[in-house]
Amino acid sequence: MSQPAYIAAANLVRIFRSEDVETFALQGLDLTVQQGEMVALIGPSGAGKSTFLNLLSALDRPDAGTLYVGGVDIVAASDRQRAEYRRSQVGFLWQQTTRNLIPGLTARENVALPALLAGIRPNDAYASADELLMAVEMADHRHRDPLRMSGGQQQRIAIATALGCKPPLLLADEPTGEVDWASAERILALLQRLRREYALTIVLVTHDTRVAEAADRTVAIRDGRTSSERGTDDVETVVVDAAGRLQIPGDLLQRVGLGSRATVTAVDGGILVRPWSPAVHRSAAEDQS
Ligand code: ADP
Repeated sequence: MSQPAYIAAANLVRIFRSEDVETFALQGLDLTVQQGEMVALIGPSGAGKSTFLNLLSALDRPDAGTLYVGGVDIVAASDRQRAEYRRSQVGFLWQQTTRNLIPGLTARENVALPALLAGIRPNDAYASADELLMAVEMADHRHRDPLRMSGGQQQRIAIATALGCKPPLLLADEPTGEVDWASAERILALLQRLRREYALTIVLVTHDTRVAEAADRTVAIRDGRTSSERGTDDVETVVVDAAGRLQIPGDLLQRVGLGSRATVTAVDGGILVRPWSPAVHRSAAEDQS
């Protein structure tokens, strides 16, 4: 029997309303992630990536759809259950490093803070912080002010802080957005190592294909929907949403010259989608008769 997905999002809709404008940030997004996977969500600015991360972290609620994370029904959960979920089930790495770190605290104090706030005894919280600082190779810097460190070092401290309560899920919004590529590669390798050591599930958001390639799986988001998935075997999987719609990647559409109409024919073991033309339409109709 296959394991249930760790993250199961189906038909998520999120609409932002201002006085006279409605923005459909998510328009029926579907995604499943297995426990222990590192998935990169990639897509242009405004595609809905951050909106989805905010739903996953239970900071925001969808207008429609279902979302289960580690067996928790995030949509139906009460405010109290959602606060508990945020505290114990998810670590968040924000895009701006400074949002992850409290000024005036040393690296060790920053990393220990989530556990201290969760009511863990100081001795245990600091022991756990030391272990995490070791895991991100920053133990020697634990008494320094992280805001005076390099971008890459700050990000290591931020990662340790996000894991302060040992959550099973880590969400990261552009985790390498503020560092050079050499530092980015080290951070991505670190995330992969932490994923294995702490059996983490990681969802990261990026617009950089190089960053996405470091993940086990890449999921493209366009116009508030998952539009394609690319696994390590480089086979593109198109997501079919609950209404039966699928979004075919633009480069494929161009390659086969698919315009606004297509013919769909059931063939042995699959469905053949071809550009519409009178001739194709006739032969498809004959096949079916
Ligand atoms: P991405 O992270 O892929 O760049 P976002 O999820 O930030 O995309 O945004 C998706 C769409 O929703 C954009 O059009 C954005 O302007 C809009 N949006 C996001 N958050 C809000 C908000 N709080 N209020 C109004 N519109 C928003």
